[in-house]
Amino acid sequence: MSAIDTLPPLREVIATHQLSARKSLGQNFLLDLNLTAKIARQAGDLTECDVLEIGPGPGGLTRGLLSEGARRVLAVEKDTRCIPALNEIAQTYPGRLEIINGDALEIDPLAHLTPPVRIAANLPYNVGTELLVRWLTPKEWPPFWQSLTLMFQREVAERIVAQPGSKAYGRLALLAQWRADAHIVLSLPPGAFTPPPKVSSAVVHLTALPKPRFPAPAGVLSRVVAAAFNQRRKMLRAALKGQAPDIEDRLLAAGIKPTERAEQVPLEAFCALAREIDKS
Ligand code: SAM
Repeated sequence: MSAIDTLPPLREVIATHQLSARKSLGQNFLLDLNLTAKIARQAGDLTECDVLEIGPGPGGLTRGLLSEGARRVLAVEKDTRCIPALNEIAQTYPGRLEIINGDALEIDPLAHLTPPVRIAANLPYNVGTELLVRWLTPKEWPPFWQSLTLMFQREVAERIVAQPGSKAYGRLALLAQWRADAHIVLSLPPGAFTPPPKVSSAVVHLTALPKPRFPAPAGVLSRVVAAAFNQRRKMLRAALKGQAPDIEDRLLAAGIKPTERAEQVPLEAFCALAREIDKS
């Protein structure tokens, strides 16, 4: 019998520890251990890695990560009610699960992790997006993580992997794809969760590139992309007017038609524009 088989089913864990789902914490639990093992497999080879899991809840994905061979899991959970259930998992996998009862937006887990590190999470969507942006914008690149395997609302997942010319293309796609490879690896209907959320979900897997895909000054790129998409229906010469007095010349120097709209412009051209603007 493997370690995971000695643990009670998740429905029983939820009943024993009275973990009624709280909306305020975005709690939609995954109770199917085949599914959580499948998500864990999407995170890649975990055997040599520390895995940072944010929002383990009753521990479905945590069990998946451990049964798929993670060297160690560091789990950060805000809801104190979940900690005894997670402690039971820690006892089943001695020395392989560390639990922090805290808010992932406040704590710095780095001191608890040994590289290489992968991150996996099924998080409330707003927290997930905020953490994704933080993980993609560290002071130094490469970051402390090798890959991110994260559950999102389907619509957010599509914004992360979007290509130019699509409605979903925007700041999130450019931010993610500048420094990482990003793919949707799994789609889940609302019924996969307890309780079911209103919308479908998808797991996105991002792998950190050793260096950004195209050179560009990070601050300028972020400013230019924000300005371009804040007025996405305007031509770039108008949307970016505040970025440089001679913005038309700089757009042309970057190979972008001043009459184009942000939605049409690929990442490489945005990077070229950020370099042009940075020259002044
Ligand atoms: N991973 C579990 C699963 O798949 O069944 C639970 C998923 S549930 C969508 C989100 C979890 O994140 C909940 O357990 C919730 O308490 C936790 N959570 C919410 N906000 C958090 C935060 N800021 N920091 C850490 N955990 C948080």
